[in-house]
Amino acid sequence: APPSKRSYTITLLPGDGIGPEVISVAKDVLVLAGSFEGITYEFREMLLGGAALDATGVPMPDETLSVSKQSDAVLLGAIGGYKWDKNEKHLKPETGLLQLRSGLQVFANLRPATVFPQLVDASTLKKEVAEGVDLMVVRELTGGIYFGKPRGFGTNENGQETGFNTEIYSAHEIDRIARLAFEIARKRRGKLCSVDKANVLEASMLWRKIVTELALEYPDVELTHMYVDNAAMQLVRYPKQFDTVLTNNIFGDILSDEASMITGSIGMLPSASIGASGPGLFEPIHGSAPDIAGQDKANPFATVLSAAMLLKYGLGEERAAERIEKAVLDTLNRGFRTADIYSAGTKLVGCKQVGEEILKSVESHI
Ligand code: ATP
Ligand code: MG
Repeated sequence: APPSKRSYTITLLPGDGIGPEVISVAKDVLVLAGSFEGITYEFREMLLGGAALDATGVPMPDETLSVSKQSDAVLLGAIGGYKWDKNEKHLKPETGLLQLRSGLQVFANLRPATVFPQLVDASTLKKEVAEGVDLMVVRELTGGIYFGKPRGFGTNENGQETGFNTEIYSAHEIDRIARLAFEIARKRRGKLCSVDKANVLEASMLWRKIVTELALEYPDVELTHMYVDNAAMQLVRYPKQFDTVLTNNIFGDILSDEASMITGSIGMLPSASIGASGPGLFEPIHGSAPDIAGQDKANPFATVLSAAMLLKYGLGEERAAERIEKAVLDTLNRGFRTADIYSAGTKLVGCKQVGEEILKSVESHI
């Protein structure tokens, strides 16, 4: 049967630096890949970050949040740049992104780390260790020590200054992130590794208990547990052992950056932030790269792959997502590279041309 016609509203937040260049490519790829699956879109482009500061005086205008909330998914380029680095905190582009994330109530951050066979030499690890790595870190994003109360500065009984934070998780917060991780593991290779510090921290003991109980509902997923110190070591020792990694806010912050360096190609890595209901936020992990902005040098693959995550995890349109993922591999196979992933024997091209080549790959139905 022909696919039914489906229509989605997508908010585009190009942001600053290379953001507009990579978003423009990703938008075209979304449209073309969608057209083969009977999908149409209504795009609404809004201001965020430095672009919003310059135009409106605030890094996240109310309208940006309300339009984002009313849409089916949000695709973000990148925000920030030298120009606003000295601004006060409430007038920094990065503050706008934090406000958007909390406004959308996205509690889960999904960060795949894939070593593409064509780019294995970019890895910081030895070839035989890096080859074939394809893992996903699922990080809890709105709880834990970054938000726990009480927090602050004080004085101890000896009159010494102190600083303190609280690691706190409720059963509900653990359950919802763990469920999502089990669902993702199920769609991947069926392996879930939950990372905690249950030998020391009570919040981790509860974490492990709830994840273990939940595993009964997912008999098809193989669950293991690992202490975070060991996980940090295993990630560089033998990363291929991981499929889906579930962890809390602070451990996930650290481990997802570690995992991304295994791949060595910051321009290739997408991310997704998802809430209980409402639209997800999809963005490349890299920043606004002001050093190369406006020069057609940006690598758009990470944003294109973020658009694939938008289809898969944001809209449930897995076939269209697969079309994009395959087109990315095909474009790499045909040798097209931006400067950041260039190596001898491949074809050095700009952001726009990589975009055109990805479109050709989508078109050729590979
Ligand atoms: P953040 O904005 O998160 O603080 P950052 O300033 O630490 O990020 P990026 O903006 O990601 O870092 O840039 C780091 C380096 O990587 C820069 O030299 C930049 O040019 C390069 N880079 C980042 N993203 C890309 C990309 N998509 N294509 C090519 N080069 C990139
Ligand atoms: Mg930066």
